Amino acid sequence: MRPSILDPLFGRAAALPGIGPKTAKLFDRLLAAPGKETRLVDILFHLPINLLDRSLRPTIAEAPFDQIVVLKVRVAEHRKPQGRYAKAPYKILVEDDTGDCELVFFLANADWIERSLPLGATRWVSGKLELYDGRRQIVHPDRVLDEAGIAKLPPAEAVHGLTEGLQERFVQRAVEGALERLPSLPEWQDPSVLAANKLPDFATALREAHHPTSRADVEPMGKARQRLALDELLSQQLALRLLRAKMKRLPGRENAGDGRITQALEAALPFALTGAQTRALAEIRADLSSSRRMLRLLQGDVGSGKTIVALLAMASVVECGRQAALMAPTEILARQHYEKLLPLAEGVGLRLALLTGRAKASERARLHETIAKGEADIVIGTHSLVQSDLAFADLGLAVIDEQHRFGVQQRLALGAKGEAADVLVMTATPIPRSLALTYFGDMDSSVLDEKPPGRTPIDTRALPVSRIGDVVEGVRRALGSGARVYWVCPLVEENEELDLAAAQDRHDDLTRIFGEIVGLVHGRMKGAERDAAMEAFKAGTTRILVATTVIEVGVDVPEATVMVIEHAERFGLAQLHQLRGRVGRGSGKSSCLLLYKGPLGETAKARLVTLRQTEDGFRIAEEDLRLRGEGEVLGSRQSGLPGFRLADIAAHARLLATARDDAELILRRDPELASPRGEALRVLLYLFERDEAVRLLRAG
Ligand code: ADP
Ligand code: MG
Repeated sequence: MRPSILDPLFGRAAALPGIGPKTAKLFDRLLAAPGKETRLVDILFHLPINLLDRSLRPTIAEAPFDQIVVLKVRVAEHRKPQGRYAKAPYKILVEDDTGDCELVFFLANADWIERSLPLGATRWVSGKLELYDGRRQIVHPDRVLDEAGIAKLPPAEAVHGLTEGLQERFVQRAVEGALERLPSLPEWQDPSVLAANKLPDFATALREAHHPTSRADVEPMGKARQRLALDELLSQQLALRLLRAKMKRLPGRENAGDGRITQALEAALPFALTGAQTRALAEIRADLSSSRRMLRLLQGDVGSGKTIVALLAMASVVECGRQAALMAPTEILARQHYEKLLPLAEGVGLRLALLTGRAKASERARLHETIAKGEADIVIGTHSLVQSDLAFADLGLAVIDEQHRFGVQQRLALGAKGEAADVLVMTATPIPRSLALTYFGDMDSSVLDEKPPGRTPIDTRALPVSRIGDVVEGVRRALGSGARVYWVCPLVEENEELDLAAAQDRHDDLTRIFGEIVGLVHGRMKGAERDAAMEAFKAGTTRILVATTVIEVGVDVPEATVMVIEHAERFGLAQLHQLRGRVGRGSGKSSCLLLYKGPLGETAKARLVTLRQTEDGFRIAEEDLRLRGEGEVLGSRQSGLPGFRLADIAAHARLLATARDDAELILRRDPELASPRGEALRVLLYLFERDEAVRLLRAG
């Protein structure tokens, strides 16, 4: 059980003063796990992504684009949306002696605007200045102040990631409330490590991280950030080591059968396995047939053929009378696996079941019974597989697809459904060799470093956005020869609202040009709606699919041969590589067009060049890490690496090594975490929700 000292941090954010039910919902959308409520700890770990420097106060003509500026302006004109255009933005034209600029408010509160920006008044407005259709614009200024207001404005302010409707000041209020309730926690770090790195204590670090005073404070190498990163990394390293130690203690079972089903399956495949697939299978089978418990990672680029390897491994287990489960991160992927594997499985008498969160209660009950009685050999599903009311007759192997979407805990939870079940974790994010050890401890790993034959290389080009007309013509030609096209618009969390609007607009544009063959899929859609859009694209009813990055993981439409990525400069290298991997899956010639908005920085340029040069995921991963190590700041989502909340793996590589060494030392000296520092470390593990790891200690 979590120590009670942490209780305040795991209390509901909704209980904080000044956070009403509406704001709480927004926080849930931004910070909480699906179906869960935001807790204080989520607020505290939501560190600023930027520093708003309000010292820049240029004239309109001198103001630089794409930066936060504070402008002193006169309100010149109100452009209120009229009648049936009421959904259009409310625009205000403001000016000074050097030029003018539009303030743009979507879904505006007209009363507030008219009160804050009366015609003719002088105001200070702060926000990001952008050039749009040749006009200067500030969309949703973050401040609109009069003389008295500007005098009180702090020169620097934290900027947190937001979601539609949630304003910075609500986040700051919540952060202050949470900081006030921060309990005093025992020190879990080694004092000599702290001294050597000049790092503050945990509470000071949190306070400072949320109150940056200079740009250095919001960068990964800020002292407060380093301290918090070290805490997270130490908890991760400890949890991994505890997990591994436990796995080694637990005897496994011999889970490989006599080969009759797998041989029939291999014979029925329309292709021969690649050398890499054969090698990986041999490694997996050796684990399965040993009495040691398997914990193996199967790494392979998108399209390298992991699914077949998983099926053959699962079939081995079924041969000896046990069950296997395959857990995918989304409904679409679970269903896709099911549909793809069903004909193969049926051909050799394997009984497949699909269990997703969307199954109706009666159907779910029936499925649960089938699974509990052992009448399903292979169960494919989503998170619903780890629900506590699901019992297997005898689970021998748990396969987890696209693992970085799941935490260590979920891996364990699925493995725990069987008696010492073997665990195979599949990932399409190649982990740079230099990091693999850190991410997966000494977990065994098999690599699919060879693509199935017959793939033609993807023709990759980078074009400035001004050439979008050429791209549309290219798409027209491709459609003419039967192609299907993905068109990706990026989603940047800072302003989801505008990004969604951009995807919607692009969808409308393309529909005007190409007619009713354009689909749209984005993260805000309901599951069923999104599946329907994907299905229509798979079936060819729609032939262009405009998407935000929801198509990132695993979706398989072999007919899709063109990938257009808008604002390619906003994506990380690994993410671009993943997206590109959606095409080039059939034997047709595929292309990928990267549309960028210049001017490009050095790293952005280097990313696009690398992408054009190679399709080797491991090379790309190494290069990604190198570029990030050189100071490019991207969230873990963009980097494609498994996520940390506070640590940045490229920037904090040295701290990671420190945490790894420390974890090793700790567990060598105090394997049960029973010493006073051990007690403090238990608090750390609970703080980062590695409860499962602490439970391993108890069980041990
Ligand atoms: P991954 O899960 O690694 O992204 P998949 O398992 O979905 O890749 O495989 C991608 C495609 O390649 C599928 O259509 C699959 O049937 C096909 N495939 C897999 N292995 C081979 C092979 N050895 N030869 C030819 N095609 C293969
Ligand atoms: Mg896959």
